[in-house]
Amino acid sequence: RAKAGGRGRAVLFSMEQEEGLRERRRIEEELRQALSRRELSLAYQPKFRITDGRIEGCEALLRWHHPEMGMVSPGLFIPVAEETGLIHPITQQVLDMACRQAMTWRAQGLDVPVAVNLSAGHFGAEQGVRLVEEALAATGCDPALLEVEVTEGVFLRSAEAATRSFKALRGMGVRVALDDFGTGYSSLGYLQHLPFDVIKVDRTFIAGLEEAGPGRRIVDAIVRLAHGLGAEVVAEGVETPGQLATLRQLGCDKAQGFLLGRPMPPCALAEMAAHPPERPEARSAA
Ligand code: C2E
Ligand code: MG
Ligand code: MG
Ligand code: MG
Repeated sequence: RAKAGGRGRAVLFSMEQEEGLRERRRIEEELRQALSRRELSLAYQPKFRITDGRIEGCEALLRWHHPEMGMVSPGLFIPVAEETGLIHPITQQVLDMACRQAMTWRAQGLDVPVAVNLSAGHFGAEQGVRLVEEALAATGCDPALLEVEVTEGVFLRSAEAATRSFKALRGMGVRVALDDFGTGYSSLGYLQHLPFDVIKVDRTFIAGLEEAGPGRRIVDAIVRLAHGLGAEVVAEGVETPGQLATLRQLGCDKAQGFLLGRPMPPCALAEMAAHPPERPEARSAA
């Protein structure tokens, strides 16, 4: 009986694997078409200066609206894109859209730098730098309006190539942010060689601010560490007024999260940026 049960589980497992494989293939095929059919768009989530509630930038987040499947989450299709190499043409489109949007806002009198997420795979052979250069050249975008966000995963692949890439980007005037800080393979060693402009504290630490415990001390330490290195600190995933109040006390520079603004269409972000409230809380009360 134990044997049969074991076999049953084995069969079930392989069926699940097959199912997963088929799902990935489907996503890959659909993604190829999405690129040519231009089904990909960007939502923009504002980043607020905590002291005065002003919008000082935003993050471009990829949205895929599939005609039948509906909205497909980047958490689902980005890993497939990374495995298949489709991430390169996707990033090209994303950078192009983000640069054009930043320039459109500037023409409207709004300077809102846009941050784009770049995959770790772009930095193994420094293609990331070329992609950014091409986008800036093609759109005529001011490099000061562009920021890139990378996760600690880049240092796992090739720390040296990544370091060279980020130096090149900063040399071009593009800011570099370390995304999801504290959740990856946080070796503090790389911070020694690589000056980041921005450190984004992962939202798991921000959620931890709600409870009494070590969470607050960790965020406190990250803020001090970042400031000591000359970097600005952005808190990700701010969802409650209590979290925001604590971040203000800790001297965190900027906040991003559902409390203050969800990822939104560009016109909504422009509207928000043009009418800053006195303090960010006022926005969530409205
Ligand atoms: P990320 O770069 O860390 O982006 C932040 C994610 O947190 C976004 O999810 C955003 O919608 C979500 N978020 C923002 N505020 C809150 C909050 O208050 N609470 C909660 N629970 N979530 C919040 P999204 O848009 O689903 O993107 C997920 C991930 O997919 C991103 O994480 C990023 O790693 C990746 N991604 C998104 N767009 C791109 C892209 O254009 N290129 C690449 N390579 N990756 C992308
Ligand atoms: Mg990001
Ligand atoms: Mg993040
Ligand atoms: Mg994240």
